[in-house]
Amino acid sequence: MAVRLGVECLKLLLSLCPFILSPWANGEPAGRCGYQTCPAVNPRMLNVHLVPHTHDDVGWLKTVDQYYYGANTGIQRAGVQYILDSVIPQLQADPTKRFIYVEVAFFYRWWKQQTDSMKKLVKQLVSEGRLEFVNGGWCMNDEATTHYNSIIDQMTLGFQFLNDTFGECGRPRVAWHIDPFGHSREQASLFAQMGFDGFFFGRLDYQDKQNREDLKEMEQMWRASANLPKPNADLFTGVLPNGYNPPSKLCWDVLCSDEPIKDNKDMDEYNVDQIVSYFIQTARKQAKHYRTKHIIMTMGSDFHFQDANMWYMNLDKLIKYVNAAQNTGSDVNVLYSTPSCYLYELNKANLTWSVKSDDFFPYADGPHQFWTGYFTSRPALKRYERLSNNFLQVCNQLEVLGASGSRSGSYGVGDSSVLRKAMGVAQHHDAVSGTEKQHVADDYAKKLAKGWDRCEVLISNALSSLSGMKQNFIFCNKLNISVCPRIEELGKFTVTLYNPLARAVSVYVRIPVNGTDYTVSDPTGSSVLNQVVAVSNFTKKLRKGRGYAVNELVFPARVAALGFSTYSVSRKSDSSVFSRLLKSVRKHQHQRKEGLTIENKYIRVLFDTHTGLISRIENLHKNLSLPVTQSFHWYSASTGNHKSSQSSGAYIFRPKQGSPIPMFKKMKTYTVQTDLFQEVYQNISSWCSQVVRLYKDQKFVELEWTVGPIPVGDNVGKEVISRFDTPLKTDGIFYTDSNGREILTRRRDYRPTWKLNQTEPVAGNYYPVNSRIYMKDGKIQLTVLTDRSQGGSSIQDGSLELMVHRRLLYDDNRGVGEALSEPGYDGKGLIVRGKHLVFLDTVDASAELHRLQAQAEYMAPWTIMAEGTGTPYSTHLNHISEISALKEELPHNLHLLTLAQWDSHSVLLRLEHQFEMGESSVYSKPVAVDLANLFSAFEITSVEEMSLGFNQRKKDVSRLTWKTVQEAHYVKSASSRNDISKHTVVLNPMEIRTFRIHIQHR
Ligand SMILES: [Zn+2]
Repeated sequence: MAVRLGVECLKLLLSLCPFILSPWANGEPAGRCGYQTCPAVNPRMLNVHLVPHTHDDVGWLKTVDQYYYGANTGIQRAGVQYILDSVIPQLQADPTKRFIYVEVAFFYRWWKQQTDSMKKLVKQLVSEGRLEFVNGGWCMNDEATTHYNSIIDQMTLGFQFLNDTFGECGRPRVAWHIDPFGHSREQASLFAQMGFDGFFFGRLDYQDKQNREDLKEMEQMWRASANLPKPNADLFTGVLPNGYNPPSKLCWDVLCSDEPIKDNKDMDEYNVDQIVSYFIQTARKQAKHYRTKHIIMTMGSDFHFQDANMWYMNLDKLIKYVNAAQNTGSDVNVLYSTPSCYLYELNKANLTWSVKSDDFFPYADGPHQFWTGYFTSRPALKRYERLSNNFLQVCNQLEVLGASGSRSGSYGVGDSSVLRKAMGVAQHHDAVSGTEKQHVADDYAKKLAKGWDRCEVLISNALSSLSGMKQNFIFCNKLNISVCPRIEELGKFTVTLYNPLARAVSVYVRIPVNGTDYTVSDPTGSSVLNQVVAVSNFTKKLRKGRGYAVNELVFPARVAALGFSTYSVSRKSDSSVFSRLLKSVRKHQHQRKEGLTIENKYIRVLFDTHTGLISRIENLHKNLSLPVTQSFHWYSASTGNHKSSQSSGAYIFRPKQGSPIPMFKKMKTYTVQTDLFQEVYQNISSWCSQVVRLYKDQKFVELEWTVGPIPVGDNVGKEVISRFDTPLKTDGIFYTDSNGREILTRRRDYRPTWKLNQTEPVAGNYYPVNSRIYMKDGKIQLTVLTDRSQGGSSIQDGSLELMVHRRLLYDDNRGVGEALSEPGYDGKGLIVRGKHLVFLDTVDASAELHRLQAQAEYMAPWTIMAEGTGTPYSTHLNHISEISALKEELPHNLHLLTLAQWDSHSVLLRLEHQFEMGESSVYSKPVAVDLANLFSAFEITSVEEMSLGFNQRKKDVSRLTWKTVQEAHYVKSASSRNDISKHTVVLNPMEIRTFRIHIQHR
């Protein structure tokens, strides 16, 4: 009743309802937000919830800055500042009007430019539910190519602004991914853990949609985790009827050309009756696919509401005349609403909903239109984004560990927020997805680079304060092509490795140098075995004048958990070089006679004498041997020359033939074999090469591939894959990760929720691979880890493939308006280098390898070099060359997901159980950690558990409950179960727990 009363009040206007609509009494908004501000509905009628909205891409055809200001109108008439400027007065003038806003990256910019009185007004509108934030992340992130760490961070960043600015009334109740091109299960799980009550999206496979409409399953419960106790990862999910657009003929934006409502009866063009009857018909038709007496219509689209009056004036009339028809027997009731108010009505309907537990990939909007190309599009940007997350986590952690000295120190003012925001922008569904125009992709990279600069200052401050030594730090950001001009000539330098993982790791460091003989000593001063090898021709080809090092210094390093280890390097005289080179040549010749083989104590890799390809991988410890042929191929892209033909493009993958073309005819190989590593160099073609590498003591084979510039002189677009063929009997089954976390089972030519009519045998079987793909038989598992998101599949039994690069000559007609043909550094075509890590092990043991290594890849130790030995930072400090911020390492199933300064007095801490149930007999068990005894760098003085998005205390989280067909065995909230004491927390498989902690540095 309270709800009804409040809304009636809105209608009766201010004077009659002083209690409810006098929020200014104390000079502060009243804070009556949430479901209680929802509009009245008519329970006897079909209620149509009109949701005025705008979809503001955080960069796509224009850069995020151009979109904000409305610049570059030749490309698109779109300016976000005008939208908010135009909508607010409309809301102010009429309390029944509603508007939702989504992308905090834009709203935050607009907010900063407003006057105090405007801010006060907006706060009132928010507190009354008239302006509602939905989703509320920094952007509306992509779901296929994003890593869970970055999804959580970007949502947290948006929530932080909303919470700081609007308090509880700014907390979004509904997740809103109306445009992303397919939907991941992990995304839904994360949303549920962020406290969302429901989720709406627009795009799903056209066959899936048809089927759901027929079955009235457009809305259902998504059970988004196979591990978390129900209902922690349950998320009520609705498919919007028309993407995110209004019904046809009812688009009244300045960007549309539909007829306005002309309600002067004297006019020939009077069209009210026509529009009313069309609307009622449309609503009834739509209602046939939904289960309640409520339906939703999204009134808006890309960058709509720049002239809000156009939309609102016509919607006002629509509401007036459609509802007037109730007097003549219509049962349709139309109202201004929001997604959360619509959701609330669905909840109140108290129905029993069906349950889904797979995901919404791949997405196709027609038989030959699979949006599976973007899983790989812009591979260099995808890698840079992943690496930027690595650096951001290092920056975040050192901001905490270095205390206030990290933000302001002798290197200047450091700042992690620049990179955090750039990463927030980069998660957008036209950013890391690779579906933006070229100049926009360049802008995303530039924004990330600016963030790196500010973090470098912060890290320099933190490291010198922690090590007690002011040094001339050198950040080498081109080590993947052996370039670091400032280090190459030095006779003496230090290499500090900062490890963001909460366990010690061993890595091999490769530094570009010009000397031939070096001594390397570890943090204790003991000398470390090292090797100097020539920079390969493969790498020299990539540099194009960016560096001149002729050699690489390679040494193994062990890095302390959540801390750093500093190694010292000095150049010796170059006399002993020849013996080294001779040694490696001798090994080379020796191996050639027996057929090429490389091995360490765990793994042996055999190569085919004729082709030069990997032919077999053996796990020596487990006595497993599997024929594996790894090779590169390319699909020739379909072109869009005529109407009926769909071309491959930034979004869509459409190969011309089912079988890809092998990359080489005859391959040249050579090996480099040293005491630390063995390598086989495969010169596959003039634009494709690979190094197969086996480091001493590592349990995986590293494949470092270099592809590009992809030649298109023959007018054929090419999509390049790396393929692993084995005799494994896989029955059409393979496995891919969801945003780097839980694993989903994939079956060729099959979808778990409807009978698939497969129309694209390759593209229709592609799935996003965020971090890993694997296949197995009853005994053996072959797992491939990636260093960025890629598309992957198993097109034949026993075969896995990953798409590494693509270059296309036609646009695929989904709006971007450019062919995906990246120019690269010199304009001659992009060259991409990356790594695949290959594990061969038993099925039972594989998770223990890929879980740990995947975390070690995305949160790899960061290399920071320094010239000479530096000067004391502070006279009372000793020089420290190794430090761990932990009292002891975390157990292997626990991952320190986030350690970041939240505000001046509190820190955000997230811990994650990184194994799934049943994956490992050792690690798939609950694990306890004592927070009070975890960190050595600081003491925790208070702990408060928060929701995943850090905008609610865990104990305050209260989500709507829903009845489902498969009744969940609901367990009480996970927050306190099994916890042993105040500071000891228990994590179950795949659980993430988030804490606000206060700390005191030791
Ligand atoms: Zn979009």
